[in-house]
Amino acid sequence: MADVMTPEQRSRCMAAIKGKDTKPEMIVRKFLFSRGLRYRVNNRKLPGSPDIVLKNYKTVVFIDGCFWHGHEGCKYYRLPKTNVNFWRQKIALNIARDYANGVDLRLAGWRVIRVWECDIKTKAKRDETLEQLYQEIVRIEHKSRHYESTPDNMPIAAEPSPTYGDNKI
Ligand SMILES: [Zn+2]
Repeated sequence: MADVMTPEQRSRCMAAIKGKDTKPEMIVRKFLFSRGLRYRVNNRKLPGSPDIVLKNYKTVVFIDGCFWHGHEGCKYYRLPKTNVNFWRQKIALNIARDYANGVDLRLAGWRVIRVWECDIKTKAKRDETLEQLYQEIVRIEHKSRHYESTPDNMPIAAEPSPTYGDNKI
């Protein structure tokens, strides 16, 4: 029988047969979903097409591949031995683009969280990374709703006093 699937389709199919999708992005999505968070994926209208967009938390999450996004000091970020300059420049451009997208997103009021693929891929770090990610997302929401928990060094002076409806604090 002729092989009509693209390599990507085949790997997705194999993952489905094995009962799991091992792509780091999917692992993160499933985890957040299991914790009750709802999100959109690959939103192309936002700078850098964030992998996960949590609108309710005004937060976007990128799951970045260590090679393409130049994870400094990571064993998965090793430049090929040939065309070193080409690769160095290419990765440097990716890093610059990531940075610019991050700035644009923050200016538009989004929180930006980046997760390295190596922290999801290896089983040893995965649970810890996912838990931290969840806590960070939830903590952000907590902060934005409860000004009293804002640390003293946060510049909130310029903002009007928060009102909590009839609930006097
Ligand atoms: Zn890495």
